[in-house]
Amino acid sequence: MARDFGTRFMPEMTVSKFDGDWSPIAAQSSDSISMHPGAHVLHYASTCFEGLKAFRHADGSVKIFRMDKNIARFAQSSELLYLPKFSHDHVAKMITDIVGQYRDDVPEPPASMYIRPTHIGLEAAIGKAAEPSDTSLMYVLLSPVGDYFTGGEVSLRLLLDSVGMRCGDDHGMVKGGGNYASALKHIQGAIKNHNAQQVLFANEQGVSETGAANFLMIDGNEIITKPLDSSFLHGVTRDSVLTLARDNGMQVTERDITIEELLERAANPEYEAGLSGTAAVLAAVGTFIHEGKDYAVGSGQPGPKIRALREQLNAIQWGQAPDPYGWLTPVG
Ligand SMILES: *Cc1c(COP(=O)(O)O)cnc(C)c1O
Repeated sequence: MARDFGTRFMPEMTVSKFDGDWSPIAAQSSDSISMHPGAHVLHYASTCFEGLKAFRHADGSVKIFRMDKNIARFAQSSELLYLPKFSHDHVAKMITDIVGQYRDDVPEPPASMYIRPTHIGLEAAIGKAAEPSDTSLMYVLLSPVGDYFTGGEVSLRLLLDSVGMRCGDDHGMVKGGGNYASALKHIQGAIKNHNAQQVLFANEQGVSETGAANFLMIDGNEIITKPLDSSFLHGVTRDSVLTLARDNGMQVTERDITIEELLERAANPEYEAGLSGTAAVLAAVGTFIHEGKDYAVGSGQPGPKIRALREQLNAIQWGQAPDPYGWLTPVG
């Protein structure tokens, strides 16, 4: 991810606190929050978040991409962390209120407004190492972000790691800090020791995902990716790309892929591999690194099908193509 991605914030955010009930949504300065140093989140990592984007269309309208699916996943992460429950509509209003407030600041494509809903356990109770936080805070930060591919498209170097684990296999569906913390040392090791940019984690079943993106491969007219199970994060971009691919007439196959199969097929010139996530949409993988050896993916250059799918998805997000799936929510 680009180094400065997400370092600029709009001056205010929406907040709501749970203490028996959810407080009315309020806007407050986004430069600080106050909490007790014994807050549950700081000790026992009761934290999860979402990442979605709002786009400015040529007619001046502002649209949020797949907000409902992101809110559903936010609810699921919160539930897996035993954080207080919330209604879908409450979070939808927190998001649309703050995007509405900064409607005029949503940049034109290829830039966008990145939206970061966050939910943390607030209870000051360091004895609750094995119990949930009774109180919590939700807030929605906004950060204008530029084009991920500024400076041209690059092909990523991806380390295939069957030893390190991103997170526990039963915790993969939480989009939260704890999982990022456990993945960090493997990713930093891969950068330092293998000149890799990302790590594709794998277990006995096959390859899973990277620290913050889903993995998929394309071979001719077929797109193959891991089937949904509880060991990994079900990306909204993954779902969107598979939907487009299916409607384009591609064969979509959801099945496990072993490292051996991946490396065997990588040399095929028709082969492409990509990482999907909200930030980059769909980024091409140029090289797999496994047991000290480099394997070029396809031609080693960003593949045409990955690029075409990304452009097709961007066209819907940017209002340059119709939205037949109802993925866009208007604001204001
Ligand atoms: C956010 C995330 C993704 C990508 O999800 P999108 O909804 O496509 O942005 C994939 N894997 C992990 C671990 C993530 O945190």
